[in-house]
Amino acid sequence: MKLTIVGRGTAGLMGAAHFWKWTDWEIEVIGDPTIPPVTVGEGSQMALPILLNEAFMFRYEDLPEIGAVPKRGVDYRGWGKQDFIHDFPVGAYALHFDAGKLREYITKKLLETKRVRFTDGHVNNVEDLDADFVLDCSGTNAEKEYVEEPVNAAVIVNKPPIDSEYTLAQAMRHGWTFGIPLLERTSYGYIYNTDYATEEEAVNELYELVGECDTYTHMKLDAYHTGIQKGGRVFRSGNASHLLEPLEATALETANWINREAWDYWNKIFKTTPFNIEYENALQRVEAIINLHYLKGSVHKTPFWKNAKRIATETMKTIDEESLIKLLAVAKNEENTSSDLHPWFGGWTNISLKQNFQGLGIKQKDVKEWMAA
Ligand SMILES: Cc1cc2nc3c(=O)[nH]c(=O)nc-3n(C[C@H](O)[C@H](O)[C@H](O)COP(=O)(O)OP(=O)(O)OC[C@H]3O[C@@H](n4cnc5c(N)ncnc54)[C@H](O)[C@@H]3O)c2cc1C
Repeated sequence: MKLTIVGRGTAGLMGAAHFWKWTDWEIEVIGDPTIPPVTVGEGSQMALPILLNEAFMFRYEDLPEIGAVPKRGVDYRGWGKQDFIHDFPVGAYALHFDAGKLREYITKKLLETKRVRFTDGHVNNVEDLDADFVLDCSGTNAEKEYVEEPVNAAVIVNKPPIDSEYTLAQAMRHGWTFGIPLLERTSYGYIYNTDYATEEEAVNELYELVGECDTYTHMKLDAYHTGIQKGGRVFRSGNASHLLEPLEATALETANWINREAWDYWNKIFKTTPFNIEYENALQRVEAIINLHYLKGSVHKTPFWKNAKRIATETMKTIDEESLIKLLAVAKNEENTSSDLHPWFGGWTNISLKQNFQGLGIKQKDVKEWMAA
């Protein structure tokens, strides 16, 4: 069997590591050297260190090679009714990592295996590739369906390293700022909405929080889906599947989930639900995880937060019934641990849901309102 992966960004390389570990297939990774991978995407959930450990026996002592600091959770400041921490279960950790160094590390490890081939080239149509299976991780797609999110742009700066193992999520006047502590720097990004603040205002507000910087990067962040995935010979993963804002670092966790689903489908593991339904529900759950943070507003009583609450409330009303039943059980404190793994909820366990519900002040009556809609 031959698998061709299009794209040498983080999603494509995670796919290559996964399929190298769990198949004996010939694997080719094609990347266009004139299209650089994105430089952002440096916080993970728990699936990334698990994948690195499975594929390469990645250990604590390897963290410096990818410029990484363990991630114990997310430190929410100024959201909802109180500051709170969303932390991972004792013994579990995620990663804050240097995206460029992670890509170099995975590439080096896969080249050593001699079974993964890296080729320079531009793929015009993934359907034309001569392979049994194709994982499209090309970072984009012509079929974009834009999704309404509270935020639509980012200002990114780098500062010296700090001593922390938590991602900062600081509510701001027109959005929120992430702080990702890395070994050699700290990456801060103000994720905001251009309808409520100019680029200059966003930069100044970010500088008030982290101090002035010589340079910054500004980028548009238009959230999108790329249509239904039926689960045939070609799967799309990473930003070729969808792009949502970075709150809770759901992107690479979802890329990993898609890779594992693709393995199941291609290996004809019995599945009771067609992939298009699982995929649609999974993306809705990821959107729910992101949007529930905006439901109760923040310490900032600004037009941005009023609009964010509206978008979040509308989004929560669209999620599937199975998810709502689970969310109601969490709000009632009636969930049982056996439902931790099903349905897949963006990599979150029930404990994550519970911590965020409690921290934000989300109650049974909120979930019942979404159910009634
Ligand atoms: C501000 C911001 C912050 C973010 N923070 C996080 C975070 O903390 N955690 C997280 O999980 N995610 C985060 N994300 C999402 C992040 O972008 C993705 O997780 C991640 O980088 C995956 O990118 P990718 O590999 O899908 O695509 P890319 O990095 O864009 O890679 C695409 C690859 O495909 C190749 N390519 C493109 N077209 C072709 C073609 N036609 N033929 C051949 N090769 C081609 C390119 O050369 C490149 O190698 C963030 C996003 C933004 C905007």
